[in-house]
Amino acid sequence: MKNNIVLALTKGRILKESLPLLANAGVEPAEPIDTTRKLLLETNHEDIKLAILRGVDVPTYVKYGVADLGIVGKDILLEYGSDGFYEAVDLGIACCRLVTAGIPNMVPDVGTLRVATKFVNITRDYFGRKGRQIDIVKLYGALELAPLMDLSDVIVDLVDTGNTLRANGLIPFEEILEISSRLIVNKTSIRQKTPFLLPFIDSLEKSV
Ligand code: AMP
Repeated sequence: MKNNIVLALTKGRILKESLPLLANAGVEPAEPIDTTRKLLLETNHEDIKLAILRGVDVPTYVKYGVADLGIVGKDILLEYGSDGFYEAVDLGIACCRLVTAGIPNMVPDVGTLRVATKFVNITRDYFGRKGRQIDIVKLYGALELAPLMDLSDVIVDLVDTGNTLRANGLIPFEEILEISSRLIVNKTSIRQKTPFLLPFIDSLEKSV
């Protein structure tokens, strides 16, 4: 009997770094993932399909159980919550840092700080703990532009090599969190499909 497992993957760098781990665990897409426009892909494994999603949508698919498993950044889990699934494995991929950053010597020490970010909840928590008053400017991308155009004093964003910050004349100030991608598992799936899922999760963990 087929298990019909769906694994939701985050498109972009997480997807790229997930594929070698999946290959080590014996799962490969049935067609080249770079060129296809399909969002639900067969694999070499008759039980497993891959759904290719934006990171913010991965927890939703896993929470509702239409995907049994998901691979998603810890930033997304912290920002949008972790209801309805377990965080099973730290896959150690797509590692980066969530930082505050801005233009050197251009950040006011006192008064309300204008912070541009897509991570509204994490940002509110972080500055709340520091006791600093902030106004949040919610953006969806190209955050580095906000201080340059005086839309904000600082940004809260993911940084990997630091090249994007440098190219735009920004520097990192404080590290808020270290981020990596996690394997998440729907709570019902793990109970109902244990004989298939446990060994699969185990082999993914071993391939990390
Ligand atoms: P970098 O220039 O290597 O520091 O990368 C910074 C840019 O890539 C920023 O626009 C970040 O939002 C994005 N970024 C960095 N690391 C990640 C990650 N692990 N997942 C998603 N986006 C990332």
